Amino acid sequence: MRFKNRIDTVKAREIIDSRGNPTIEAIVVTTAGYAGRAKVPSGASTGAHEALELRDNDDSRFGGKGVLNAVENVNGVINRELSGMPISVAAVDKRLLELDGTEDKSELGANAILAVSIAVARAGAASLRMPLYRYLGGIDALRLPVPMMNVINGGAHSSNNLDIQEFMIMPMGFPSFSDALRAGCEVYHSLARLLRSEGKSTGVGDEGGFAPDFKDEREALSYLCRAIEWAGYTTDQIKIALDVAATEWVDGDGYKLPKAGTRLTSSEITEKFRTLSAEFPIVSIEDPLGEDDFEGWKSITDTLGERMMLVGDDLFVTNTERLKMGINKNAANAVLVKPNQIGTLSETMALCRMARESGYKYILSHRSGETSDTTIADIAVALGGGFIKTGAPCRSERCEKYNRLLEIEGELGEGALFASSSNKKSSSEKKLRSLLR
Ligand code: PGA
Ligand code: ZN
Repeated sequence: MRFKNRIDTVKAREIIDSRGNPTIEAIVVTTAGYAGRAKVPSGASTGAHEALELRDNDDSRFGGKGVLNAVENVNGVINRELSGMPISVAAVDKRLLELDGTEDKSELGANAILAVSIAVARAGAASLRMPLYRYLGGIDALRLPVPMMNVINGGAHSSNNLDIQEFMIMPMGFPSFSDALRAGCEVYHSLARLLRSEGKSTGVGDEGGFAPDFKDEREALSYLCRAIEWAGYTTDQIKIALDVAATEWVDGDGYKLPKAGTRLTSSEITEKFRTLSAEFPIVSIEDPLGEDDFEGWKSITDTLGERMMLVGDDLFVTNTERLKMGINKNAANAVLVKPNQIGTLSETMALCRMARESGYKYILSHRSGETSDTTIADIAVALGGGFIKTGAPCRSERCEKYNRLLEIEGELGEGALFASSSNKKSSSEKKLRSLLR
């Protein structure tokens, strides 16, 4: 009987991610025979304030990156303590936080905790025979996100000469998610043709974007604009977003571009992006400054915040305490949401709630080291924030998230909303949409 459905066992194992590094998978089985499974991702340009990803540091295995201790924490103490509990994400997350007892989840490991938290949610959804987005978001879970597709990789995600980590396209001016995704894929292909025609490499970086050398970021941006045109679209329909990942640039009191070697101050960086965004159709910049440079963030938000999203990733690390600091200081106007930065689904959802109530945009995001797990696609629809960042349309650990969104769009049918279809402020976009219909 359903009311007797409780957690029976929680089990984990070590698997590998898209970079061939170990990560953790957990499976929760309920007493009524339902199951939920989750695999957690892993970052490369991680923020110092993220919850701790527990690694074995045993150099004889995977260069020290093994996660056997995290696996043992699930199979041992977590399994013992959760067995018999009701299938309630809130109750389970609370118990996990108590068991861990640290600020940064370093006792059990945020990787171990998140795998269990999500697997419990999936077991709960399965028990009710409900898709995860509906289980988490109820009947309001209708909005498909604008895909932010990282088609040129640099920074810590590639070995080319670009210091900016991600150059993304954002197909916004389309009536549906599937139309937007198709346009993004077509631009990705036209970018490949364009690069090839000019003798540039089409080898890809960690998130599936192309990673050739460029003269500078202006050249990379102009390739993007040309690729949009080559594919038959305009920069009114398809915008550009950057992830600078500037925490990687922090050097003493200032900044130094790791590849170019140039030194910059916080205000020089602000000026650089003010100029670039006047020249190119940039509507979002993530981590333009370092994770602790709140003053710089305030200043760039004052300068550019009216015109675009300024997205805190390493700055906020999906942590409500950090977001509160940002809100109080008027730093950034959007937040990147990576469940493994904080470690439980409940805290991830609380962060999104805080963002929504404070007028900050929120963007669900993958990590550079990913798996086939598609939970972020369901969370993006459940919470309706309107944006998802999950790489280029290349390599299945990225494409699976987009494919899951196509599946959800199909399930929602006529009820599906696409993020830009509610954008009241842009009359040109409305005109564009009516033209496209
Ligand atoms: P990471 O990169 O997963 O390597 O941290 C993604 C990002 O910075 O957004
Ligand atoms: Zn980032």
